[in-house]
Amino acid sequence: MTLARTTSINLLGLKGEPIEIEVDVSNGLPAYSLLGLPDATLSESRDRIRAAILNSGRNWPNRKVTVSLSPAWLPKSGSAFDLPIALSILTASGQLRESDLSKAFFLGELSLEGNLRPVRGVLPTLIAARDLGIKRVIVPRENFQEAGLLKDLEVLAFSNLSHVISYLESGVRAENPTLIELPKEVAKHDMSEVAGHVENKVALEIAAAGGHNLLMIGAPGSGKTMLAERFSTILPPLDEDEAIEVSGIHSIAGTLKDRNVLSTEPPFIAPHHSTTIPALVGGGSNTIKPGACSLAHRGVLFIDEAPECDSGILDALRQPMESGSVTISRSALTASFPARFILLLAANPCPCGRFAGRGRSCQCTSLQVRRYLAKLSGPLLDRVDIRLRVESPTRVELSTSNAERSESIRIRVMRARAIAAERFAPESFKLNSQIPPSLLRERYRPSKDGMALLHALLDKEELSARGFHRTIRLSWSIADMSGVDTPGKYEVERALLLRSGIPGE
Ligand SMILES: [Zn+2]
Repeated sequence: MTLARTTSINLLGLKGEPIEIEVDVSNGLPAYSLLGLPDATLSESRDRIRAAILNSGRNWPNRKVTVSLSPAWLPKSGSAFDLPIALSILTASGQLRESDLSKAFFLGELSLEGNLRPVRGVLPTLIAARDLGIKRVIVPRENFQEAGLLKDLEVLAFSNLSHVISYLESGVRAENPTLIELPKEVAKHDMSEVAGHVENKVALEIAAAGGHNLLMIGAPGSGKTMLAERFSTILPPLDEDEAIEVSGIHSIAGTLKDRNVLSTEPPFIAPHHSTTIPALVGGGSNTIKPGACSLAHRGVLFIDEAPECDSGILDALRQPMESGSVTISRSALTASFPARFILLLAANPCPCGRFAGRGRSCQCTSLQVRRYLAKLSGPLLDRVDIRLRVESPTRVELSTSNAERSESIRIRVMRARAIAAERFAPESFKLNSQIPPSLLRERYRPSKDGMALLHALLDKEELSARGFHRTIRLSWSIADMSGVDTPGKYEVERALLLRSGIPGE
C-alpha cells in the first residue's frame, strides 16, 4: 500500500464541506509536502504528526510523503485534520491496513507526544459527517461530551494516537468513556430578584412575546442592567435542534465551555461598548469565527451604554438584523453564521449619567444631551420597537417582595408566541416584530377604532410613518398577551406608551 484515502470535513461558518485526504508514500528523497491550500496551523501539522507518530512507537516513512487535500481550490484551516492525516500516513506506509482506515471518521489535533487534543467546531463537523452517511466517529477525549450529543452516531473517544491505533488494529478499546448526565441547568438569574420595575417588566414581557428590540434609558444604578441580564430567562427555551445549532456556533467560537453543552437556555451575550466590528459581527484572519451577534443567535444581544460605542459599531448590526445572518468574506473564503437575536440597548440619559428631569448635579448642557442621545437615532433605531425610561424603584416598591418568577412569565410569553405562530402559519415569519410594513395596513391592521386613533395621530404629525408601523406591531404583541383577537384602541394606546422617551422622533 502506498496510497491511502480518507474523508474529513472542513468548516466554513456552520457549514461543513467534505474533504478527501490522500496520502502517497513513494520512493525518493525523504520529503513531506502538503497540497490543497492549507492555512498556517495546518501547514505546521507536519511537525506535530511526525513527532506524534514517532512518540507512539511507530515509524516515520523516510521516503517521499505527499499529502493532498481536495478539492484543491478550497482553503482549509485548523488542526482537526492531524489525526486523519497521521492515520493515512501509517496506512500508506504499510503500518495499518486499508480496512482499518475505513472503520471510522477521524477528528483531532495531535500533540508532539502523540496525545489527542480537543478541536473547535466538533458539533457542526459531525453533523456534516453524519449527512455524508458516516456512522462511527473517533474524537479526542475532551470532545466526547459534545460529540455524544448526536444520538445517531457511534462516538468513540481516545486521549492519544496509540490508543486509536490499537483500537483500529485489534478492536480493543483502551478507553471507554461514558457520557456524563449533565445536571439540570439552574438559571443564574431570575426576574423575581428585581424589585419594583413593574411596568418595565411588562414591557420586557411584551418584547419577549413579539421578539421586539428594546432600548432602555435611565441613570446608572436605576436597574437597566439587572433587567437586561434577566431578559433571556423569560424567552421560550430552545428546542433540541435550536440548542444543537446554538451549541455549534459556540463550539466554533470556543465559548462552549461557558454554556452547558446542550443548554436550552437562550444565550445572553453582552459585548462591552468598546467592542470592535469583527468581535461584534465575526471575522478573523485564518479561521473565520462568529461574532457576538451570532453567539447571541436565538437569544439576546445586550449593549450597555450604547451611545459610547465607536461610530460604525451600532450600524454594523443593521445587516444581521435585516437578514438574520452574517456573511464574512476573507480572500477566497466566504462563511456565514446565523444571527437572529433580540437586541437590548441601554443608555444613560446624558453623558454624565446624572441627568434626572431637572438636572440635580448634572452639568451637561442641553446640546450635549441632545448630541449624546442623537447617537442612538438613525436606521438601527428604526428596528427598535420599544423605548423605555427606566427610573430607580421607589422605597415602597423596593420593600414589596412578591415579584413574579421568570418561569411563570415565560409561560405567558410562550402562550402569546403560540397564538402568533398560529396566525402567521401561512407566512414566512413567526413573530410580530417581523410583520412587513406592507402587511401592517392590510392583513394585520388593528380594528377600526385602533386605526382611527393612529390616523388621527398621523394627521396631527404626532406619529411618523415608522412610528405607525412600530405601534401596530407592538399592539399585536399586547393583544396576544391578553388573548385579544385583533388589537383595538386599548392595545394601540398601550403600544404608544411603550414608545415614550424616544430620541430623535
Ligand atoms: Zn449629565
